[in-house]
Amino acid sequence: MKRLILHGTLVNDANKFDGSVIVEDSKITKIVEGNTVPNASFDEVIDASGCFVLPGLIDDHVHFREPGLTAKADIDSESRAAAAGGVTTYFDMPNCVPQTTTLEALDEKFKLAAQKSHVNYSFFFGATNDNVDLFSQLDVHRIPGIKLFMGSSTGNMLVDRREALEKIFSTAQMPIMVHCEDTDIINRNMAEAKRLYGDDPKVTHHPEIRSVEACYQSTRLAVELALKHHAQLHIAHLTTAKELELLPPSSSLLPPITAEVTPSHLYFCDRDYNALGTRIKCNPAIKSAADRDALRQAVADGRIAVIGTDHAPHLLEQKEGGCCKAASGMPMLQFSLVTMLELVDKGVLTIERLVELMCHRPADLFGVRNRGYLREGYQADIVIVRPNAAWTVTKDVIQSKCGWSPMENHTFLWRVEQTLCNGHTVYKDGVVDTNYIGQPVQFR
Ligand SMILES: [Zn+2]
Repeated sequence: MKRLILHGTLVNDANKFDGSVIVEDSKITKIVEGNTVPNASFDEVIDASGCFVLPGLIDDHVHFREPGLTAKADIDSESRAAAAGGVTTYFDMPNCVPQTTTLEALDEKFKLAAQKSHVNYSFFFGATNDNVDLFSQLDVHRIPGIKLFMGSSTGNMLVDRREALEKIFSTAQMPIMVHCEDTDIINRNMAEAKRLYGDDPKVTHHPEIRSVEACYQSTRLAVELALKHHAQLHIAHLTTAKELELLPPSSSLLPPITAEVTPSHLYFCDRDYNALGTRIKCNPAIKSAADRDALRQAVADGRIAVIGTDHAPHLLEQKEGGCCKAASGMPMLQFSLVTMLELVDKGVLTIERLVELMCHRPADLFGVRNRGYLREGYQADIVIVRPNAAWTVTKDVIQSKCGWSPMENHTFLWRVEQTLCNGHTVYKDGVVDTNYIGQPVQFR
């Protein structure tokens, strides 16, 4: 099967240029610069004129809820959302049921994905207070890294003993991705909020409870441990201007210390709680406009390495209540690319930088083999997006099982036209090819 993606604007390796891409079976075999028509015969020609052609996105942070929490989401439904959003590879997090903290649970997730994931996949292994001895048995070619919930109570995977933390940072032979929030500070803030506002404070208090200080103190400790043990630390969903001060210059360290920001924390701020309520309640909390603007600056200037969604679906009824009762987390995977392209239009970052943050750097940082770039010999993971093609998010376009989105009723100017995964058209014109199964990602 030989296919031609003809005459798009290609964005790759900090460049933007007119060109075409030749795809043979699962691989990119040629990138043609300029407007010449390659002189060969093709089984299919995809007309990309007027469109941008990007590497398929690698989302390093999703919660697909399988196994065990499949009323909220599952690998089939959420990988459909990925395909529709231009995401061709995802790394799923371990706080499902059972937690992915044993080798058996990890194997089970790979088995499930091999049956029902419509894009490429891999899974983080979850650290606990007492499973460090398993790290040496993990295959570094198979998984991106270790996920650690540090001083945070998400799904009971809290690692809070200093001794356990030291052991995790000194033992891990792959990136440690850390959720940083200090539980003691959060508990104190929650007790005070309850005293002032009652048993279930309104969601507008969420950023006071899950405060800047709670994030800062935990991130400070993570950086300290990584420096001490020369561990590769990747800070998940950084949310505050203050934490940015903790990031060492990107070139100064080996292994590097890097950070991820979510589209939600770049797009929303605390003023949006009034209109969107608990739909945008997530941990760490969406904070002030000043924090959001500092994060925007940091993605533009390179202090932030990666944009990952922290796609975390819950049923809408589980989002009822306030700071205590409403579940934290929102689905974002299907609309992460178009949301970030809107920020490109607003001048927050360039499209070249977007491709670095959502494709190249996740591939580099975790050592993904042959993906994340438009390069000859690489897997043909490609997304074709069209600017100036306004459309509005309605319930019927949402692929996620939970059936809602914080972006509902929003009009996007960019549209994902087509997604290729390993050379296969997995999404086109609103339809996901659910017969297609993606590949396990290989690393290092
Ligand atoms: Zn998460």
